[in-house]
Amino acid sequence: MTPPLRYSKERIQFGKPIGQFQLQQKKLSEMITEITKAQLLTWRLGVLRNEDRATTAQISMAKRNNVDMAIKIAREARQMLGGMGISGEYSIMRHSMNLESVITYEGTHDIHLLITGFDITGLNAFK
Ligand SMILES: Cc1cc2nc3c(=O)[nH]c(=O)nc-3n(C[C@H](O)[C@H](O)[C@H](O)COP(=O)(O)OP(=O)(O)OC[C@H]3O[C@@H](n4cnc5c(N)ncnc54)[C@H](O)[C@@H]3O)c2cc1C
Repeated sequence: MTPPLRYSKERIQFGKPIGQFQLQQKKLSEMITEITKAQLLTWRLGVLRNEDRATTAQISMAKRNNVDMAIKIAREARQMLGGMGISGEYSIMRHSMNLESVITYEGTHDIHLLITGFDITGLNAFK
């Protein structure tokens, strides 16, 4: 069970687990939706790669989208843990910091965007 899900079931506020409040369920629902979408993007890319048809622009799009999604979810997950989210007891801050480096290496977030822009327009905006 992921840390925010586990915490939402364990943490009691106003006599019930916070996971029973609508806002917590909205966050968890949106997280699983975005993760599923990112997995589909990766799956499609994998199929294209196996067929030797994946382009560098498609790889850029997938890397940029999925790291961005992961950082946003990690940030939301940290908030769901309240004050515990910044303690070492849960790994979410370490995970967030790891993602802050992933958004820069293997092509920065901005440069991948420009690669997608180039792919669409044929016009080079990065030099
Ligand atoms: C944890 C970590 C591990 C790494 N591991 C490796 C590794 O194993 N091998 C390796 O070779 N490198 C590695 N790097 C380096 C990484 O690839 C570079 O940091 C990254 O490519 C950005 O280059 P830079 O740091 O020189 O940023 P800069 O080029 O100084 O860019 C700074 C900012 O400006 C933006 N920018 C730059 N040029 C343009 C432009 N033309 N148009 C618009 N925006 C622009 C960038 O997107 C970025 O946001 C790693 C970096 C990190 C953080």
